[in-house]
Amino acid sequence: MSLFEPLPYQEALVDEAAKLGDAALRPQANKVDAEAKFPTEGFAALAKAGFYGLRIPERFGGRGADNRTAVMVIERLARACGSTAMCFKMHCEAVEPLWRMANAEQIEAFVKPVAAGKLLCTTAISESGTGSHTWVMQSFATKSGDGYDLSEVRKGWVTSSGHADLYFAPVLHDKAAGTGNYTAFMIEKAKVDWSIDAPWNGLGMRANASSPMTFKGRVSTKRHRLGEEAGWQKQVFPIFMPFSMLTFAAVYLGIAEGAFEEAIAHVTGRAYGDTGSNLAKLDGIQRYIGEMRLSLDRTRAFLMAVAAQLDDTGAADPRHLIECVCAADETALEVTRIAMNIGGGKSYAGQNSLGRYLRDAQAGSVMAPTDDMVKLRVGRLMVGLPQFGSA
Ligand SMILES: Cc1cc2nc3c(=O)[nH]c(=O)nc-3n(C[C@H](O)[C@H](O)[C@H](O)COP(=O)(O)OP(=O)(O)OC[C@H]3O[C@@H](n4cnc5c(N)ncnc54)[C@H](O)[C@@H]3O)c2cc1C
Repeated sequence: MSLFEPLPYQEALVDEAAKLGDAALRPQANKVDAEAKFPTEGFAALAKAGFYGLRIPERFGGRGADNRTAVMVIERLARACGSTAMCFKMHCEAVEPLWRMANAEQIEAFVKPVAAGKLLCTTAISESGTGSHTWVMQSFATKSGDGYDLSEVRKGWVTSSGHADLYFAPVLHDKAAGTGNYTAFMIEKAKVDWSIDAPWNGLGMRANASSPMTFKGRVSTKRHRLGEEAGWQKQVFPIFMPFSMLTFAAVYLGIAEGAFEEAIAHVTGRAYGDTGSNLAKLDGIQRYIGEMRLSLDRTRAFLMAVAAQLDDTGAADPRHLIECVCAADETALEVTRIAMNIGGGKSYAGQNSLGRYLRDAQAGSVMAPTDDMVKLRVGRLMVGLPQFGSA
């Protein structure tokens, strides 16, 4: 039996995700990619099937998945459509601190409606000024009365921009508060002024609507703030970060698995008119397939071990969390490159989905934590320096 089969308690949910991916996401993946169109139909299917509440406990109407199962679900969806899986991952990572930190009002207003598939969420952290240095934000909200004025909240890349109902956004709680003093809000689209500041036309993840956005107006302390004022670093980030890292890796691994499946279909189906043989019978091609499989298995073993540590102990090694993102993205870059190579001119000419997988995989190297920043941070730790800093 494969080490990587879902365990009996995971089978139903993972199988459901695989079937939903094949039925509702895969058939429209190339179309939404070509048209850079948000996958509305895919999200309707995810909402109807109860996936919006993937990690929300059953007592609030969710599916109550543990981290391991959530990783497997997201990986299955990414095999079918990287764009939809990335938007879904952004939803789930925004929901993670929401359901775990919500007060009574937030449970009724947000957590239960999310679980019922009525509210789509996303993450709005990165800002164009600080880019891949996502631990630094310059947007701020000013405290006034029982809420905050979103004076200058400009986020540089917001996946599902305009489509999401709730935006998980850490901002400075005051302009003078200084780096690190961030407060996390769930900004409710229906209650503020918002704008999309540029269209999305990505190289990959084209259906993601990852546009810059500006938010203005007021948010309420009780309804919209998660945790305490300036509570980002101590309270919110430790809940958000592990799940965010695992699910980035899950998307990249799923993209790589999707490309692998398509490459296998191509080499076994590609018959030569002159020899009557096919690509899969050539030993050079078999070696390429083996190389891809090894890379996939290595990454899967690492990712599942980190997810298991988080489930079993309540915490995962922060270094391993960022390392598994980089490992999964490098696997996706490597596997999609080899898949395109053995897919030949037919793949280059767009006769299958390999080009889409290759372009989607490229997003991983520039999405925070970028591959460069992971290596830099790990390297600093290895030589006894704090992972963030310049000296
Ligand atoms: C498809 C997509 C969707 C996204 N969705 C979201 C979202 O939903 N929410 C959100 O908050 N953000 C999102 N982002 C933003 C993302 O997380 C990054 O913040 C953003 O891509 C950084 O881009 P930049 O051009 O500012 O990078 P820069 O900071 O300008 O970096 C450019 C390159 O230089 C490298 N680099 C930087 N510093 C160093 C160094 N010291 N040593 C070596 N290399 C270095 C980086 O790794 C990167 O490759 C998304 C991005 C993409 C591409």
